[in-house]
Parts: sequence; C-alpha cells; structure tokens
Amino acid sequence: MPDWVPDLPTSPGVYTFIDPHGHPLYVGKSVNLRRRVRGYFYSGGPDNERLAEMLRIARGVRTVETGSDLEARLEEAERILFDRPPYNKALKRRGAGWYLELRWNEPFPRLRVVPRPRRAGSRYVGPFWGRRLPERIRRLIEKIFRLRSCVEPVRPHVENTPCLQYDMGLCTAPCARHVRIDAYRRQAESAARLLVDREYGWRLIDRFSEARDRAAAALEFERAAEHQARVDWLEELDEYRFAIDSEGEARSWLILLPSPDEGHRVLQPVAAGRVLRRRTIEWVDGAWQEAIEDACYAVGVAELGAAAVLSPREQVPSAMVARWLEDGSPDGVAVDLTNVDAEEAVRRLGSGRVA
Ligand code: SF4
Repeated sequence: MPDWVPDLPTSPGVYTFIDPHGHPLYVGKSVNLRRRVRGYFYSGGPDNERLAEMLRIARGVRTVETGSDLEARLEEAERILFDRPPYNKALKRRGAGWYLELRWNEPFPRLRVVPRPRRAGSRYVGPFWGRRLPERIRRLIEKIFRLRSCVEPVRPHVENTPCLQYDMGLCTAPCARHVRIDAYRRQAESAARLLVDREYGWRLIDRFSEARDRAAAALEFERAAEHQARVDWLEELDEYRFAIDSEGEARSWLILLPSPDEGHRVLQPVAAGRVLRRRTIEWVDGAWQEAIEDACYAVGVAELGAAAVLSPREQVPSAMVARWLEDGSPDGVAVDLTNVDAEEAVRRLGSGRVA
C-alpha cells in the first residue's frame, strides 16, 4: 500500500486519485470508501492497463463522504463532467450529445442532427448519447412525411428536375414546385408534432392502416404498399420512443436525502429536469423549514430560465434522478413540485424520515 493512501472512512462516498500537482486523474464512487480504494492495490494492482497506469502516476487520494447512493452518483458525475479526469471515459463521453433540429425559419424546413441546440427559431429534440439513433429517427420521419433530405437550400422552379427521392415517393419535391410552401410546411408541422406526441403516432398508424385496406379493396396494390410502408416506419419509430420521450425527467422535484453528518439532511432540488446545487441542511426547527422554502424558490426561478431541451451535461444527472425515482426513491423522500407550493412541500418533507 503506497504511503500516500490515507486512512479512509468506511462510509459511502466519492474518491478522486490525484497526480503530484493535485490534478484529478480518476473519480469513482463506492459504498465503502476504505475497502474500494485499498482494493486497487491488492494482488499486484488492477489488470486493467489504463487503471494500472493511472495508479503509477497517482500521488494522493481525496474523498467526499455521502449519506446515500444517489448523492454519491450525482457527486461522481459532477466531478467527472466538470473536472474531466483523463482516466474516466464512460461518463465523460456522455457530456457530449446530439440533437434533432428542425429549422423552422427556413421556407422548406429539413431535419438535421446537430451537436448542440443553438439557433433561435428552431425546434430541438434530444439530447441523444450518440449520433446513430437520431440519424435513424431523422430518416424515418423524412420518409413518413415525405420531407426533403437534400442539404442545399431549395430554390423552387418548375423547370427543376426532382431527384430520385421524388420518384420513390419519399419527397413531395418543393424544388420543382410539386408542392406549395404552405402544404410543405404542414408536412413539417406534422413531423414536429410526431416527435413530441406519441399518441399522434398511434393515430397515424390507424389512419394509414385504414387507407391501406381501402386501397387493397380497390385493387390499388401499389398504393396499399405505400401506406403499409408508412405503418412500418411509424411502428419502428415507436420503438425508439424511450430515447425521444423525456417527460418524466422534465419535472420539478424536491428530494430529501440522509447526510453523513449527524442531525443533518441533504436537500436536492430539481427544476424541469435540471439537477440544481445540493445543500446539506441542519435538521433543527426553523432552519429546515426555511431551507425547503428557499429551495422551492430556487426551483421556481430555474424553471423560468430553463431551455426547452436539456443540455448533454444536464442530461446525465437528470437521468440518474429519473432512474432513482423509478426505483421508488430508495433511502430518501421526493416531493413532485407540480402544483405543490412551498408550504405543502414543508408539510410533506416535515417528517425528515430518511433511511
Ligand atoms: S426531390 Fe427536390 S426537394 Fe426533394 S430531396 Fe430531391 S432535390 Fe430535395
């Protein structure tokens, strides 16, 4: 055991290996800090060459004790995303993301996959932790609504020749004036709606299925096949809903967690899916009520300034909280702040009973 490894607590928390200059090298979390950190040095060190190299450089370890697994997870994620230690890979990659963009201020909007939501007048869905899935969703939506996929700006003219997309029935060809601007924008409006409204997708499946049956009854088999293709694309899109829908994560919460300090609690506010700064509060009459009221006010202010979509950095802790809520809020208490004022939040969190 190197002499720079201090005597560590056995409590849960987050550890950071640092280099001789104090720069973070690697961040991890554990339910038992002492056991976890000492574990790196048993049996000649880790098999993983990357971690072994990190330990050869490391000259110290810092720890932060936490009272719950959720706090440890959030603390670990924040340190990785903000300090960007060179030997952490997985979470760091999640600090970048991709968005589906519909540029509404163009006459003939098209879908793009972009690394950040930057343009006013555009609609965004995301973030996605990778480019492949939003590209697949983009292609499906283009086909369902016959939106253009060409990258150049459209200059409509009757003498333009549409590309193969038109011949294949996959674009209404605004380039050759086969569709008027208002009709094309209705196509784009329907696409934007489908991205945020799952039930609309189900209604479209019904509508295209009925149209397919009518066409087949009239012996218009080519037309029936076109409708069936749209049903197939809509059903495939429905399978990707897990990545598009973030409704559960966009709500506001006040979460009370245990603290490693006797007579204290950790108060974690969440505003429209954004995980705000945590506070350790003294659990004595007067102080905790005031802290909860302050946190409710902070949530209200943050909701006012919240963008329509989470940034990739906001998405990581937001998904952690969403998963914790889905698991039944182990160790803590959560109050959904939708239609709940500060007085009611004080009443509901008043027992302070956390595991
Ligand atoms: S048909 Fe015209 S508008 Fe449609 S994708 Fe081809 S070039 Fe673009």
